Amino acid sequence: ANEAKSEFLSNMSHEIRTPLNSIVGFSQVLLEENLPEHTQDEIQDILIASNNLLEIVNGILDISKIEAGKLEIVNTEYHPRQIFDEVVSLTKVRIENKFLAFPFHLAADMPPILYGDSMRLKQIMVNLLTNSVKYTKDGSIELQMSSVIQDDICRLIISVKDTGIGIKPENIQKLFTKFERFDVEKNVTIEGTGLGLAITKKLVELMHGRIVVQSTYGEGSCFTVAIDQKIIPITEERKVAQEKLISADQKPFVAKGKKVLL
Ligand code: ADP
Repeated sequence: ANEAKSEFLSNMSHEIRTPLNSIVGFSQVLLEENLPEHTQDEIQDILIASNNLLEIVNGILDISKIEAGKLEIVNTEYHPRQIFDEVVSLTKVRIENKFLAFPFHLAADMPPILYGDSMRLKQIMVNLLTNSVKYTKDGSIELQMSSVIQDDICRLIISVKDTGIGIKPENIQKLFTKFERFDVEKNVTIEGTGLGLAITKKLVELMHGRIVVQSTYGEGSCFTVAIDQKIIPITEERKVAQEKLISADQKPFVAKGKKVLL
């Protein structure tokens, strides 16, 4: 029965995603047209609501795939710095209209190329950061990514620390159970399904890692993930390509005759 339920959920989520993507796509197209301001506001609301719905459907799809044992970890070579930068950019957009400090730090000794499932790694980081943004009113959210290297293995240690509402000790054990949400009366305006952390924990376990949480109710939380990834050695050819990439990043931009607002 459980398998049938998971299969049904997975099929339903898939069927719902297709038309939902059309709604998101067409709303974006409409926003580019020269429409009156109030119409644009309404379209923006459609976009926010459908993106939220898409997130929920993706969550259900992930959890049903995990439960049916069908979620596979796809390992490839990736640049941890790139993943880190992408996650930072996404978070910056999310905190745009909140007064939150967002310090972030990537260890200088991070190997340039690792072998693992970068998409899922990104999903783990985004889930934790999204929660911190959601459950923190003021103060800060901090992201750290460091490495412990032993032979050809890099233990990635990712921590997301916030000065948010915190979690009561009795809720810590239930945190990673699906559909569990706390202080629902207090957090009525915060959208969520209670799936994010359940998916995050399962993903970390599928990657043979560990996730731990330390939290003080009313003060904040810190989620730490440790995952081992294989280090890909850098050949001379790769080094040149890598240097090119870095120098392109650091190329000065020309702003002659322009005003710069700092
Ligand atoms: P969702 O955020 O969609 O409700 P999650 O599974 O991501 O679901 O989180 C489960 C619950 O754990 C949340 O509803 C919230 O009560 C609590 N929680 C998660 N992250 C944090 C955090 N950083 N600070 C405080 N509470 C949190």
